[in-house]
Amino acid sequence: MSCFICVQCGMQYPDKLEPPLRCPICEDVRQFVRWEGQAWTTLDDMRKTYAARLETDHGLLGIGSKPGFAIGQRALLVPAAEGNILWDCSALIDQAIIDAINEAGGLSAIAISHCHYYTTMVEWSDAFGGVPIYLHENNRKWVQRESKAIVYWSGEDFAISPSATLYRVPGHFSGGTMLHWSKGFGALFTGDVMVVSGGLVSGEAVAATRPLCREAGCTPISARRLTVACCMRRSGVEPPRSCSPSNPQDHCTVPAPNTRAPLSWR
Ligand SMILES: [Zn+2]
Ligand SMILES: [Zn+2]
Repeated sequence: MSCFICVQCGMQYPDKLEPPLRCPICEDVRQFVRWEGQAWTTLDDMRKTYAARLETDHGLLGIGSKPGFAIGQRALLVPAAEGNILWDCSALIDQAIIDAINEAGGLSAIAISHCHYYTTMVEWSDAFGGVPIYLHENNRKWVQRESKAIVYWSGEDFAISPSATLYRVPGHFSGGTMLHWSKGFGALFTGDVMVVSGGLVSGEAVAATRPLCREAGCTPISARRLTVACCMRRSGVEPPRSCSPSNPQDHCTVPAPNTRAPLSWR
């Protein structure tokens, strides 16, 4: 029995003898099935070939894997007096990651922007005593592995704690969620439900003046404004027009200043 993980999007499925026949996330227009066909792995196999990638950025712990996996998801540990919150999720969870989070004060809650980051969220919750996973109820249809730890919230906003509030931001997905963090330097965590187009400036113009942005079509943004921002890679000079529908593989995570390459740029 194994909880199979889709290699293309990172979604983990319920414990079964055989992998699923298909991945609804990848068959959705906002993702894609890999050219070679559907492929699966397991967390045990991942731990043999992937290592934790841990980076500190403005006091936030960024968590991913090396080499990158699926769409290059990255999770962020958001400090809060009421308990740390994991914002978004990444498929690899191993002892190095668990130790790093425990050294940072542990984990009290998980909140995820949308299904492209659900990955192994149940494993993460289990590893920290079954902490709640906050998902918007409009995205329930995209959850592939249910758990009693999942808390479906409804409406337009939901306070996890006095300093952390979730907001529904439909577009990419109806239950797309962002996290507003009022402590620390203050930030709005967007996952990839929001695309920062830059409005009047072409990606190429930005790339010419901002060496951090080496991808044509990318528009960087200050970490003080948005800790995680995504943009769409386009070959022309036209800036991104919309984030919906879009493919996760078209997103790139813009690094905060003074950091190394973001996890998704490899
Ligand atoms: Zn998939
Ligand atoms: Zn997405």
